[in-house]
Amino acid sequence: MFEYFEPESAQEAISLLGRYGEEAKILAGGTELLVNVRQKAASPKYLVNIKKTKEQLSLLGEKDEGFRLGPLCLLHDIEQEPYIKRNYSAIHEAAHQIGSFQIRNMATLGGNICQDRKCVYYNQSHVDLFMRQSLMDCWARGGKVCHAAGKDSLFHSLVGVEKCWASCSSDMLTALSCFDATIEIRGKNGVRTVQASSFWTGPDAGNKDLGSDELVTGVKLPHLPEETRSVYLKYKKDPKDFAIVSVAARMRMEKNGICEEMALYLGGIAPVPYRAVSVEEALKGKQIGTEAIVDAVKDFLEETKTRGPAMEFKVARTRSLLKNAMLRLLELRG
Ligand SMILES: Cc1cc2nc3c(=O)[nH]c(=O)nc-3n(C[C@H](O)[C@H](O)[C@H](O)COP(=O)(O)OP(=O)(O)OC[C@H]3O[C@@H](n4cnc5c(N)ncnc54)[C@H](O)[C@@H]3O)c2cc1C
Repeated sequence: MFEYFEPESAQEAISLLGRYGEEAKILAGGTELLVNVRQKAASPKYLVNIKKTKEQLSLLGEKDEGFRLGPLCLLHDIEQEPYIKRNYSAIHEAAHQIGSFQIRNMATLGGNICQDRKCVYYNQSHVDLFMRQSLMDCWARGGKVCHAAGKDSLFHSLVGVEKCWASCSSDMLTALSCFDATIEIRGKNGVRTVQASSFWTGPDAGNKDLGSDELVTGVKLPHLPEETRSVYLKYKKDPKDFAIVSVAARMRMEKNGICEEMALYLGGIAPVPYRAVSVEEALKGKQIGTEAIVDAVKDFLEETKTRGPAMEFKVARTRSLLKNAMLRLLELRG
């Protein structure tokens, strides 16, 4: 059982978080938190529903030399926003591919980027709760073991793992990272901003750069040169599922075919959005065509220690998704 609050303002919500700390949880659309509560992966004593702060926290529009998105913006509204579709198409495409229409109509941006990691041994709803309870508690549940470690699996990280093999499950964070978006966070000590790409910190650093007394109050996207093109591709087992691997790609090319800017972020393969630095570096400042792209991705993740066919397939799928994303960017350039 929990005590339930409906603050009328962001400030009131922050005071409640300050008062109850780790025992309190923000409730936005509830499409993730309530599943976690059912899966016994979260057991808040205090629920702070922020829906009544909608006027303050659901702005979707231009502000302060950037495009601002409030944490209470619904994924459906982000998907439908013409300005996003035109200028940040990877964000439109990421939102469009999350869950189902019903989920996107309830789910918020803040809830998406603040969601918990996903793992079959921790909170994936299709796994038998009884099976999970019969296992020793894993790192994510406060224990000292990772049941996914050493296993050949499609659904866990390939790289950047220390103790917990769960991967970054947030499609919106992967897409926002590729635009150098910033996240505004408010707490009792004031306001601060963090880069979207470093908001998830991995299991050793508490998973997110977000204190228990802090609230995400906005996301800002920088304005980009007109020639920028972006795409979001996602490979998943089921249409309503989380990404096995996803790619957010942004590129700006000169008329002569030289790649001026390139940002590539991957979801589903690491505990945080993973930047494909080696591929970016192989292509930046060069004339780009199919051959250059194929060449740039062919050895990507070569160092990964795969443990069987599932992981080998995941590496191959990651390379082909990266390649397809960049080929689509070339097509979009016209
Ligand atoms: C069937 C199904 C399919 C799904 N598919 C996908 C998918 O493909 N991709 C994907 O990324 N997600 C997916 N999800 C997960 C989830 O629905 C989304 O991540 C959704 O955007 C969460 O938003 P919400 O408003 O419902 O969050 P909630 O459930 O209300 O909250 C989620 C977490 O965020 C915290 N939180 C919410 N808002 C704030 C804030 N402003 N500041 C600080 N903390 C906050 C909450 O305390 C909680 O810990 C799926 C879920 C389901 C049930």
